[in-house]
Amino acid sequence: MGLVVQKYGGSSVADAASVRRVAKRIVETVANGDDCVVVVSAMGDTTDELLELAEQVSPAPPARELDMLLTAGERISMAVLAMAIADLGYQARSYTGSQAGLITTASHGAAKIIDVTPGRISEAISKGAIPIVAGFQGVSQDTKDITTLGRGGSDTTAVALAAALKADKCEIYTDVDGIFSADPRIAPKARQVPITTYEEMLELAANGAKVLHLRCVEYARRSQMPLWVRSSFSDAPGTLVTTAEFIEGANVEHAIISGVTHDLSEAKITIAGIADKPGRAAAVFELLAASEVNLDMIVQNVSAAGHTDITFTIAMADGERTKVMLLEHQEELGFEELIYDEKVAKISLVGAAMRSHPGVSATTFRALADAGINVEMISTSEIRISVVTRVEEAARAVQAIHTAFGLDADGEAVVYAGTGR
Ligand code: ADP
Ligand code: ASP
Ligand code: MG
Repeated sequence: MGLVVQKYGGSSVADAASVRRVAKRIVETVANGDDCVVVVSAMGDTTDELLELAEQVSPAPPARELDMLLTAGERISMAVLAMAIADLGYQARSYTGSQAGLITTASHGAAKIIDVTPGRISEAISKGAIPIVAGFQGVSQDTKDITTLGRGGSDTTAVALAAALKADKCEIYTDVDGIFSADPRIAPKARQVPITTYEEMLELAANGAKVLHLRCVEYARRSQMPLWVRSSFSDAPGTLVTTAEFIEGANVEHAIISGVTHDLSEAKITIAGIADKPGRAAAVFELLAASEVNLDMIVQNVSAAGHTDITFTIAMADGERTKVMLLEHQEELGFEELIYDEKVAKISLVGAAMRSHPGVSATTFRALADAGINVEMISTSEIRISVVTRVEEAARAVQAIHTAFGLDADGEAVVYAGTGR
C-alpha cells in the first residue's frame, strides 16, 4: 500500500458532473489499496472570474484582499469534491491551505512555501478519511494572513504536500494526456513525451509551458519526488518527470529536443535615443532592480550619432508600473522616447542535447524565415534559443519550428477540456 498525492486542475473540476467524475477516480485509487491525498484547483475559470470581479470593484485592489478573494475559488471546489466523495460512500474532509499546514512568506500573490506541517492531513488519513486540500494557498508565518502562490500554484501545493508526507509519487491531473513537445492547444501535431527530466521540464516551464507551475518542478527536483502529468479524462499513462539517472537506468529513448514553448505573458519596452555613454544602461536597470522588476531578454542596438536604443522584455504584469517609473525618470536617464509593446510572443526551442548539435540556430531561423515570420529579438543559452515575434504569429512560429525539427506526430493531440486561459 502506497501514498499518492493527486492534484486536479480547474478544467478537471469545471462543473458538477466533472466533480463527480473526479470523485470516482479518487475512490477507485483508494479502493485499489492506496492512500490518497487530493489537492484541488478552483472550478474552471473561477480564478479569472474572481480577478475580473475585483477589477470591476477597484483598479488596484489591496493585495491582501485580492488573495482572500482568490482563495475562495479553491474553497468551493474542495468542499464540493468532498461532498461528491461522501456521496460514493467514502469519508472525505476538506482543508484550506492554512489548515493543511502550508506556511508561506508574506508576499501576496507570489508567496513561497517555507514549511509544511500536515498534521491534520496525516490524522485524517489515519482515521480512514480522504483529505482534500485547497491548492494555491497558504498562510504567512509573519503576518498570519492568507496568501496565494501565484497563478498555477496548485501544482506546487501538491508537490510540497507529497514531499512533506513522504508520498510515493505525485500525480498532476489535467486536460491533456501529459507533457507534449509543444502546447497541443496551438500545435495539434505536438507529440506526447513519455518521460523527461526535472531539468528539461524546468526549462520548459520557465519559458511558458504552463502545464506545470515552475516552482512545482523545482520542488519536485529538490525532493526527488516522482511527478506524473496525466489526463483526468483518459486512462493514458501520462508523462513521468524524474532524474536523468533514472532515465539512463531505465534505458528508454530520450529526445534531443524537449520542446517548443510560447509565452504570451511578456511585454517589450524600447528606450529610444539614450546617450551611448558608460553608466546609462546601468542607471536604467538599477531603477528596475530597485522596484523588483525582473528582466528577461535584453538587446542594445548599434549606436548612431552618440545615441542608442535599449530593448528589453519584462512580465506584462509589471508593464504599467515600469512604464510609469521610467517616464518619471526620463529627464535624468536622458532618453528621447519610450515604446511599450504588449503584442509580442516569446517562442523558445528547448533541449539539453542542443549544446552538442551544431546547426540548431540555422534550422530555427530558416524555419521562421520560410514561414515569413519576422524575428524582433533573439537570446540563446546552452540549451535554449528564444525569439520574440508578433503575438499573432505565435502559433505559426511554434508549428514551423516544431515541424523543422521533425517533432510532428502522425496524429493530432487531444485536448479534452479547458479554455486555455
Ligand atoms: P490545469 O487547469 O489542469 O491546471 P493548465 O491550463 O494549467 O491546466 O495546464 C494544462 C494546459 O497546459 C494544457 O491544456 C495545454 O494547453 C497547456 N500546455 C502548454 N504547454 C504544454 C506542453 N508542453 N505540454 C502539455 N500541455 C501544455
Ligand atoms: N486556481 C489558481 C489559478 O487559476 C491556481 C491553480 O489553478 O493552480 O491560477
Ligand atoms: Mg495549471
